[in-house]
Amino acid sequence: MARLKSTDIQISSFQNAMTQFDEAAKRLRLDPAWLEIIKQPRRTVIIKLPIQMDDGSFKVFTAYRVQHSIIRGPAKGGIRYHPDVTLDEVSALAAWMTWKCAVVGIPFGGGKGGITCDPTKLSKSELERLTRRYTSELIDFIGPESDVPAPDVNTNEQTMAWIMDTYSMHARHTVTSVVTGKPLDLGGSLGRVEATGRGVLFTIREAAKHLGIQMDGSTVAVQGFGNVGSVASDLLFDDGCKVIAVSDVKGGIYNRNGIDIKKLLPYAKKNRSVVKFPGTKPISNQEILELGCDILVPAALENQITEENAPRIKAKIVAEGANGPVIPKADKILDKNGVFLIPDILCNAGGVTVSYFEWVQDRMGLFWSEQEVNHRLEEIMKSAFKNVLEISCAKRVNMRTAAFMLAIKRVLDVFMLRGVYA
Ligand code: NAD
Repeated sequence: MARLKSTDIQISSFQNAMTQFDEAAKRLRLDPAWLEIIKQPRRTVIIKLPIQMDDGSFKVFTAYRVQHSIIRGPAKGGIRYHPDVTLDEVSALAAWMTWKCAVVGIPFGGGKGGITCDPTKLSKSELERLTRRYTSELIDFIGPESDVPAPDVNTNEQTMAWIMDTYSMHARHTVTSVVTGKPLDLGGSLGRVEATGRGVLFTIREAAKHLGIQMDGSTVAVQGFGNVGSVASDLLFDDGCKVIAVSDVKGGIYNRNGIDIKKLLPYAKKNRSVVKFPGTKPISNQEILELGCDILVPAALENQITEENAPRIKAKIVAEGANGPVIPKADKILDKNGVFLIPDILCNAGGVTVSYFEWVQDRMGLFWSEQEVNHRLEEIMKSAFKNVLEISCAKRVNMRTAAFMLAIKRVLDVFMLRGVYA
């Protein structure tokens, strides 16, 4: 799929995040001055990272860390490695983290980082040098009490292990809680890898219950078969859903009788893509969004559903596994067409929720069973869904605006108690 870039059709993810905020803020009738204080990112770090490549040459990469808010606790949010990473994108993702943590009621603010690079063109040792240099440049800004990074697109447990080690070497002692999404042996949490996809499942179940849709036999299409999309597909398959299409950056596959996800998972791992999975037909990343199905899970990147394709979305439920896949103009069209959208700041909050559990376990030095992690996650996701749905019904707003209203109120409540230090 050709990803829509801000430059192509002037989509600014940050502007979209601000529009979503404004839409909710105007219904809360709060002091505009207070709203302005909590709306903008509080700190932006831009860094140039010189890296020696394996062939001895040098390259300079641009990297970012945006701390949108630390009002409710340390900034929290992933680090993305992608050629299209921009300050605009990282700022939007950081803002969404603030509202997401507030929606699920965990004691974190919001942050996000990114390096503009193509990780597929970097060797493992180049990636390690890039990650360690990035960490050392951020040493004064990150930490268990100040800003806690995690994985995002194209970063993983290994990336977190390098960050944790670099930070610990500077601190002269092991600091596991500086990042989450670590390997289990380094203080990671059971259930963290699956947490975002599992949270997506929990919110879809609640939405289906609300709409009177049976999970068993429901048809599902999933765009993006990475951490979020593959786990969500697998768990939806376990719930009896018929996953009729999935895709990744290289293309999509379709079978209207359903795809055997248990067989697809090892195939995708071995072939590094879902394409050409036996018994399926090819489908494009745009077509997958417009398929006739009950549940659509965009789980790749931002700005996938716009005012252009929104009128052709046929799903009854759109579950935003990705951050920012639906732009505000498309929201209005989906609303008009009666599509039930589970917004990103609710739908994919399972990842940061179990990141919070990981941070808690690291600080206690006491680790929970996977069953306990999943049980606590389910409680939080169900309760967050219920809170958002209640606002949506009471105030007659869509689920996105309801989630933002809840989050803004929670951040402002803490802000009013703390006041402004001047
Ligand atoms: P990932 O790197 O594991 O997977 C990304 C998937 O999207 C891959 O299948 C990849 O092939 C596909 N993809 C990448 N570029 C694409 C493009 N241009 N067009 C189509 N597909 C493309 O990443 P992930 O962790 O699964 O994250 C996916 C989304 O979920 C992102 O928006 C991320 O911010 C969001 N998210 C992730 C987590 C988490 O815990 N990993 C938590 C919350 C939200």
